Amino acid sequence: MKAVHAHLPKPHDPFTDLIGVKLTPPHYAYLKIAEGCNHRCTFCIIPSMRGDLVSRPIGEVMQEAENLVKAGVKELLVISQDTSAYGVDVKYRTGFSSGRPVKTRMTDLCEELGRLGVWVRLHYVYPYPHVDEVIPLMAGGKILPYLDVPFQHASARILKLMKRPASAEKVLERLKKWRTICPEITVRSTFIVGFPGETEAEFEELLEFLEEAQLDRVGCFEYSPVEGAAANALPDHVSEEVKAFRKEKFMNLQRNISAGKLKTRIGKTIQVLVDEPGISRSSADAPEIDGRVYFKGSSRLKPGEFTEVLVERSEEHDLYGRIV
Ligand code: SF4
Repeated sequence: MKAVHAHLPKPHDPFTDLIGVKLTPPHYAYLKIAEGCNHRCTFCIIPSMRGDLVSRPIGEVMQEAENLVKAGVKELLVISQDTSAYGVDVKYRTGFSSGRPVKTRMTDLCEELGRLGVWVRLHYVYPYPHVDEVIPLMAGGKILPYLDVPFQHASARILKLMKRPASAEKVLERLKKWRTICPEITVRSTFIVGFPGETEAEFEELLEFLEEAQLDRVGCFEYSPVEGAAANALPDHVSEEVKAFRKEKFMNLQRNISAGKLKTRIGKTIQVLVDEPGISRSSADAPEIDGRVYFKGSSRLKPGEFTEVLVERSEEHDLYGRIV
C-alpha cells in the first residue's frame, strides 16, 4: 500500500482527514495567501519543489479569514513563502472582498484583514522596499506591530552568494525608519551562519550588524547542505565545529540583546491573548517561535480571551506579570 500511496493519494478517511484540517488551537490560525516563490536563494530548494509564486485570489483569502473569525479565531498568522510578493504573479489583479474592489497586494490585504477586528500578524516578509507601506497600518493599530523579515546575513558578499537582496546599511536605515513611524514594532528575523565561504571577518560583520540592529526576536541556523541546493557547489565549506561555535556566539549576543529589550517592558501594562491558564502572548510573540507572557491573577480567563497584564519581571525571552 505504501508503494501505491507514493503515486496515488490516500483514500479519504473522514476521521483523520478532518483532524488534519486545523492543527492549531481554536483561537489562532495560519492564513496561507500564496504558494511557491520567484526567488532563487542558493541555500533553498523550495522553488524547485513548489514552483514559482502562485497567489490565492484575494476574495478567497478574505472569505477564509472571515470564516475563521466567525468560528472564533482571534489571531490570524499570514504566511506564504514570500508574503511581500503577494499578487505579483497576477499583476496585482483586482478582486472583491465583501463586495468592495480590492487589489491582490500585501498592503491592500493587510488593510482588509485589519477590518476584521482580530490580531493580524505577518510572517516571511521578504525585505522589499514596499514593505515600508504596511508600517503605518501597524502604527494605526490595524494590524499587529510585528514583522517577520528573514535577513539571513549582513555581509554584502555572503548575501550576494545567497542571492538575497539588500545591504546591511540599507536594512539598518529602514529599521530606523520603521521604528520612527511605529516605535512599538517588534522585528523578528532569521540568519544563517557558516554559509559556504563565510570568513571570520564576515561573521564578525554579522555580529556587528546584530548589535546595531537590536532586533527583538532572532532565529539562527547553521548552514546545512540540503540536497539539490545551488550553494552546495560553492567552495570553502565551513567545518561543523566552526558553524556550531558561530551559532553559539551569535545566539549569546542575541540573548543579551533580547534580555535588555524585555527589561524595558517592566512596569508597563500590555495587551495579551490567553493561550492557556496563566500563559499568554503579547503582540511581540508569535505562537511557538517567540516568547510568552506568564501571568497571575485570574484562573477564569479562557484561551482566546484578551486581557491586560502589568509586567513585573523579565527573562531572556519571556515576561512575567499579573492581570490588572
Ligand atoms: S528562502 Fe524563501 S525567498 Fe528564498 S527561495 Fe526559498 S522560499 Fe524563496
